[in-house]
Amino acid sequence: MSTHSKPYSGLKASLLTQHGKESIICPQLFDSNDLEVIHVSDYDTDKLGSFTRDIPRYGSQLDAARKKARVGMELSGLKLGIASEGAFDNDPYTGMFPWNYELVLLIDDIRNLEIIGFFGGQAQSASQLVSSWDELTALLSEAQFTTHQLVIRPDDEYHPECRKGIKDLESLKEAFEWATKLSKKGNVFVENDLRAHTNPTRMANILKATQDLSRKMNSLCPECEAPCFWVTERKKGLPCASCDAPSNLPLANIWSCVKCNYKKEEVIANQAKADPSKCNYCNP
Ligand SMILES: [Zn+2]
Ligand SMILES: [Zn+2]
Repeated sequence: MSTHSKPYSGLKASLLTQHGKESIICPQLFDSNDLEVIHVSDYDTDKLGSFTRDIPRYGSQLDAARKKARVGMELSGLKLGIASEGAFDNDPYTGMFPWNYELVLLIDDIRNLEIIGFFGGQAQSASQLVSSWDELTALLSEAQFTTHQLVIRPDDEYHPECRKGIKDLESLKEAFEWATKLSKKGNVFVENDLRAHTNPTRMANILKATQDLSRKMNSLCPECEAPCFWVTERKKGLPCASCDAPSNLPLANIWSCVKCNYKKEEVIANQAKADPSKCNYCNP
């Protein structure tokens, strides 16, 4: 499928980030892709949106990453730019658990393409409205405090003022008293800080998204050698184990090139035939 050459070997890319993401993104792309990632930090990325609702998000997750990557490329004068952007939602399976989608983007102005690394996994994002210190301390193990930090604000989740990056009991107590004094009814909203450097669960998800990006960067189109030759669709039709008719289960992966539109079909290896319960004929 792909050769083992590294198309980004010896090149430099900017990474605009303020939240410690460089500590995982830079070594990963250097080890796997021989790409030197230059950390650019003289820009307040919180201007482009933050998780604590004080600044609105910049468009979609991808738009926000594009904007950050472009700013980093401008500040560094480099033709390659990397940026990362996270999003939080409920899990896609049951909708009951907090979920974290991480996107790590490479904009390549040398080859005129974009490569997107992506990963979705469990989030550490507990939150609760509390009215006493006891209620607050009861939440601490679910919030994985102190390995994961906290944000506190008066009244509810929309109060404009907050204390971020709370990482020990002493500053928690102090922030709780501050928020209680400012609140109208004595309620305080507590939640996990979702910035990468304060939330190791999120940092691990960013690493997985970076590894996805790494693999795509090294996967070359057999026709034109552009990077990011990758699976873009699944073809249905795995034969039924009982009658051999095509089912709706995936039979093959379709690999596509972003540059020349070359496509290649690859039958998924070592799959058992479809269970007859999934067959349109045996179980209509
Ligand atoms: Zn191609
Ligand atoms: Zn069947």
